[in-house]
Amino acid sequence: MTQITPQPGILDIALYQGGQSQLAGHAEPLKLSSNENPFGPSPRAVAAAAAEMAAIHRYPSTDHAELRQAIGKVHSVNPEQVICGVGSDEIIHFLCQAYAGPGDEVIHTEHGFAMYRISTLAAGATPVEVPERDRFVDVDAILAAVTSATRLIFIANPANPTGTLLPMEEVQRLADGTPEGCLLVLDGAYVEFAAGYDGGRTLVESRSNVVMTRTFSKLYGLGGLRVGWGYAPQHVIDVLNRIRGPFNLSNAALAGAEAALKDEGWVTECLQVNAEERARLIGGLRQLGLGCDESAANFVLARFADEQTALAADAYLKGQGIIVRHPKSYKLPHALRITVGRPEDNSRVLAALTNFKEQA
Ligand SMILES: *Cc1c(COP(=O)(O)O)cnc(C)c1O
Repeated sequence: MTQITPQPGILDIALYQGGQSQLAGHAEPLKLSSNENPFGPSPRAVAAAAAEMAAIHRYPSTDHAELRQAIGKVHSVNPEQVICGVGSDEIIHFLCQAYAGPGDEVIHTEHGFAMYRISTLAAGATPVEVPERDRFVDVDAILAAVTSATRLIFIANPANPTGTLLPMEEVQRLADGTPEGCLLVLDGAYVEFAAGYDGGRTLVESRSNVVMTRTFSKLYGLGGLRVGWGYAPQHVIDVLNRIRGPFNLSNAALAGAEAALKDEGWVTECLQVNAEERARLIGGLRQLGLGCDESAANFVLARFADEQTALAADAYLKGQGIIVRHPKSYKLPHALRITVGRPEDNSRVLAALTNFKEQA
């Protein structure tokens, strides 16, 4: 008897690597490897999620109407065109499942987020990787890679793990060049940190083939609760809702996300600290002679002379109880991605890297 085998593509998936969270010899390491909010979630979100626990024998809402209303208000979007998912990862997954299959191509960029490739392969479609230009998404390279088989184009803006932001004119040029029979997906996991950028909201509203994804995992500090959302033309929302599990979000997730959204004071404060500390971190890294682009997100990418030096710096930081991310699988082996922490965390990182440089 031959053993059952999965659908083509599935065994090509390399397991997603999350940010390391434990360090031998350090009971409480400083975790700056997953772009989480260093201040944690809003206390109101914690209270709202906890309050749901007494009623977990009840099924949750299937249409997420209250959360979508709140998202609509806070982010100036039409709640009818919002779909909520188990993290934005699930929205990415729905898009691939609904629109790409065997023989279809899905474009992502050289340093693009790992889930685009994973969800593409899970759907049986073919991932197509396009080069970037000095860590920036290259619109011309993407448009040159589009074929009649292309169904989806994924870019994150601001991008992860580079932190770079493509200017709105460039995003618009990409949307203009995207064929009608193909969806452009703007992954907006870090949009809130990019002052003045709307995440592509207006492009979604003016086209029939642009989708924006957003998350509660980064600024809102709810990565463990798993809530994300997508904003798309009505015809896309109607399709995605057909494959969405009716109870994909728990009562606690829905309540926690809604409360987080409404705690505007918390959000404002976190954003302000991030902007100040991000600038300080970038300045400090450059002073140490490291390469560091401007970042529009809640992390920075420090570039070392070569992979060996980056690995040595990573090991040194770990020795100091600090966990950052070595983005080797993102084709940045000579770099370390560092989440912007609390002011004292960032001081610790800069002091450790200064010592590392001196002992080298
Ligand atoms: C963190 C991240 C996400 C968000 O994932 P969730 O499933 O919402 O937690 C999406 N895209 C990118 C580029 C990210 O870095």
